[in-house]
Amino acid sequence: MAILILVEIEQTDAWFIELIAELKKRKPNLDWRVWPEFGKPEEVEIVLAWWPPLGVIQKFPKLKLIMSLGASVDRILVDPDLPDGIPIVRLVSHKNILQMVEYVTLCVLLVQRRFIEYQALQQSRRWEYLPTPETSSFTVGILGLGSFGSTVAQKLAAIGFPVRGWSRTPKAIAQVECFHGWQQFKLFLSQCRALVCLLPVTPETRGILSNETFWALPQGAYLINVGQGKHLIEADLLTALDSGQLAGVCLDVFDTEPLPSEHPFWSHPGIIVTPHISALGLPNSAADCIIDTIARAETGRPFEYLVDRNQGY
Ligand code: NDP
Repeated sequence: MAILILVEIEQTDAWFIELIAELKKRKPNLDWRVWPEFGKPEEVEIVLAWWPPLGVIQKFPKLKLIMSLGASVDRILVDPDLPDGIPIVRLVSHKNILQMVEYVTLCVLLVQRRFIEYQALQQSRRWEYLPTPETSSFTVGILGLGSFGSTVAQKLAAIGFPVRGWSRTPKAIAQVECFHGWQQFKLFLSQCRALVCLLPVTPETRGILSNETFWALPQGAYLINVGQGKHLIEADLLTALDSGQLAGVCLDVFDTEPLPSEHPFWSHPGIIVTPHISALGLPNSAADCIIDTIARAETGRPFEYLVDRNQGY
């Protein structure tokens, strides 16, 4: 059984290089192959993929499992030639989730304590006091209550923020006010002083961070996008910021990554840009998840984080 790591890595991509080394070290007897050196196609039974080139996965007639090397799968599902019936599993590690909790908590505290505005004041050497909303009145809304969103929601609630969340199907999470479906979307948004996007990209959620959403938030709300760049309509964001409807934004994910140097987000005083580092994951914990998933494939134990192809996540 060969396991193909299907990543178009730059020779310099340290994260993937470290992951591959870790996998080979831990399981030297497994037949690891790294794209584009896949050998005989009929020997490949497992593909570990990250942004795979279209049309490649169908090349392997004995394929038993596709594992995404990240928490999202839209870049795999977009392949029109993806073979049917093969399980697709996402890579979600506990450490990844903790990193996301840290990142989002940092952003929420940063916007609640008005560091974006203070940063702008600092640029013009102005010593000014800005009123700070109390934690107990600063409602944070989480779009997506899955493995990442539900944990982030609970941790923010534990700090003392009122937290509400929105998902596709109904949820019950202690200390989190739960909303679901499009019917409750605007009601959910109406109290969110900070909105955090932790949704997958699907035909329904693509472009969800748009004018319509921004204008359903209280005036002067903040946005934190750690979902994906495809959730955001970039021109709408700039309009909402420049009109004051949004007071500030933290962005970790972008439609084009790396964010081009001429992009207006880099220099906008209301935007904090980070280079997709919110939950980068650690190669050793990714290796744990991959080895566990391979063991499940070998023994027939049920997979964790199995993708529902019909829902697209
Ligand atoms: P899950 O699949 O566990 O959860 C997805 C959540 O989104 C679920 O609560 C689901 O609702 C909800 N959802 C999906 N479609 C809709 C819809 N149409 N309307 C309302 N709610 C919807 O995903 P994860 O929590 O593991 O990850 C979510 C996303 O976070 C990833 O796809 C990725 O985009 C992003 N992410 C980004 C990272 C980064 O480094 N920036 C790292 C990790 C994740 P329901 O519960 O009802 O099914």
